[in-house]
Amino acid sequence: MFASTPAIIHIDMDAFFASVEQARRPELRGRPVVVGGRVERRSVVATASYEARACGVRTAMPVAQARRLCPQAVFLPTDMSAYTAVHHALLELFGRFTDLVEPVSIDEAVLDVAGSRRLCGPPRAIAGRIQELVYDEHGLACTLGVAPNKLLAKLAADLSKPAGVGVLSEADVHGRLRALPVGRLHGVGPVTQERLHALGLTTVGMLQDVPLPFLAAAFGRAARPLKQLAFGRSLSPVRPIAAAPSSMSHETTFVTDTAEPLALRAALLALADELMARLRGRRYAARTVALKVRDSTFHTLERHTTLPRATTSTRVVYAAATGLLDAVDLGPRRVRLLGITVSGLVSGACQLTFDDGWKDLALDEAVDGVRARYGRHAIRPAATCANRVSLC
Ligand SMILES: [Mg+2]
Repeated sequence: MFASTPAIIHIDMDAFFASVEQARRPELRGRPVVVGGRVERRSVVATASYEARACGVRTAMPVAQARRLCPQAVFLPTDMSAYTAVHHALLELFGRFTDLVEPVSIDEAVLDVAGSRRLCGPPRAIAGRIQELVYDEHGLACTLGVAPNKLLAKLAADLSKPAGVGVLSEADVHGRLRALPVGRLHGVGPVTQERLHALGLTTVGMLQDVPLPFLAAAFGRAARPLKQLAFGRSLSPVRPIAAAPSSMSHETTFVTDTAEPLALRAALLALADELMARLRGRRYAARTVALKVRDSTFHTLERHTTLPRATTSTRVVYAAATGLLDAVDLGPRRVRLLGITVSGLVSGACQLTFDDGWKDLALDEAVDGVRARYGRHAIRPAATCANRVSLC
């Protein structure tokens, strides 16, 4: 194995609950949206869209106060099951780039992509790709921070909100970081910040430079961890979710909407190819194949079929998806997005019987082998087409 430099990506969804509401109700886009309970129940704001924040509305503010500040805002109840569904879909999306995905909260996650360079490119490029995919597939904005560890990655994201991609390196610890207020460090809460200010320590640079004994006189044993924070040091590893995925999916958005059968089939082939390579890489086989079709008007339909037995074969999944597409009556509509989801996953990928087609199996394994050695784009199906934007 080759040594890899640490590469952490922190992903923070922008105004998550409000953005999910705006994504599923286009009439709310560009308008101030406040998600929270009801005024009569004296609840507080869970999330405010950036349009509502412009009026001064903040998270945890009483809804009644938010109404006074921004009477024109659309106030919505919290729909936790909808946000949780999107959260899970996002974790699946992040999982296309690495197995090391740690959900931090419903709207934040950390990824370790050190081992993903070969297949997916450098960490900064992966971050940009994730940002695009999150927008293409869910209509949501997110901010990403790229750094050698979790602490710096979170800070990089915090400094780049909203909709940014921030990068912090070890060198920045002795540069950009020094001018930041100490309160910017994740782990320095309001109380600690106040105590640091009382000692005249207002910036990260000051905290870096202050002699440890001076700090220890005020903070005791907490002095050393505080210094570590100031130098952006964190040894905390990414702790991935252990549970096996219930499904895996891949989607693509066309550059221009199309109804051309050949283009649609080519896209399905590319999707099946990408998805099944990932499935095989994680040693799963799938029993159910679902097709998602979104047309130009954003109307989405889903069809699924269950296979006679679990498969790892690209060809079998492609054939199933094509069968599902053929059964869809598109009429005069054009297709904007196609997606394939496989579910009913079983582990131990190669538990195939002879009639599953050993040729398929041998071909898939040969393709996976070439890609493992020479990169993902070294080999691809001949019929895939160029009118697609969102394959990772
Ligand atoms: Mg957020």
